[in-house]
Amino acid sequence: MYDRYNRNIHYLRISVTDRCNLRCKYCMPENGIKPLRHEDILSFEEIVSFTKISVENGIDKVRLTGGEPLVRKNIVHLIRLLANIDGIKDLSLTTNGILLSEFAKPLKDAGLQRVNISLDTVDPDKYREITRVGDLNRVMQGIAAAEMAGLRPIKINCVVNKSSDEPDALGVKAFCKSRKCNVRFIHQMNLEIGKYAPVEGGTGGDCKICNKLRLSSDGNLRPCLFDDLSFNVRELGSEKAIRMAIDAKPECGTISVQNRFNVIGG
Ligand code: SAM
Repeated sequence: MYDRYNRNIHYLRISVTDRCNLRCKYCMPENGIKPLRHEDILSFEEIVSFTKISVENGIDKVRLTGGEPLVRKNIVHLIRLLANIDGIKDLSLTTNGILLSEFAKPLKDAGLQRVNISLDTVDPDKYREITRVGDLNRVMQGIAAAEMAGLRPIKINCVVNKSSDEPDALGVKAFCKSRKCNVRFIHQMNLEIGKYAPVEGGTGGDCKICNKLRLSSDGNLRPCLFDDLSFNVRELGSEKAIRMAIDAKPECGTISVQNRFNVIGG
């Protein structure tokens, strides 16, 4: 699908839950957020149906995100359903890694191809400080399990404050080198003031080459992270929501007061 600016939109990022088992300082308030009502969250049937229609329209890359996707009940089953859709060339998931030691093998067996794991520091105390509740050990076990399961290439998402030369980022870089993981440095974004920058080591954050649509866990299809445009797939139906989102996709992000990372998934 080509948008008005001749960008080929073929990447769908699906947030499967607004809930998370961490409380990263730049993403969630300490006490969490008021969770969406169960009935407002898209069911597996709705997610699969929407994805099939997206694929018929040209989507060939799908990533699950959250909240934390591994806290969504029966996530392995959802992966199996999505892996059975003909036409998806790249099926991946972004996770904080806390539950990955348990899920890596079943996810791989269900058809997941690869994972991105979020890791901002390799210092356990600092990790706890940033995530407020996280245990770095569990992430390390999760990374090892992903390697064992063959969920490759493993990409590490590292959020930086100012630059990828700051000490935590350098620690993550050295760790990734030793483990042969790819690392991507994401400059801390602020949706409300429109602060974003190209991802170092990745392709995100550069409007000229943006190829994404995002589906939030409550069924809003958003053509741009830094814009409040949204098309509800339950109200409009998938086909129409996709067409409207593609037609409306802005040339460049500005600000968003409605998007939240924990709902839309970054
Ligand atoms: N829970 C999963 C995880 O931790 O990877 C998936 C959802 S999380 C919202 C997706 C990505 O967004 C993570 O890599 C996280 O670090 C990033 N993120 C969240 N808030 C951000 C912010 N304000 N600026 C930059 N990246 C952010």
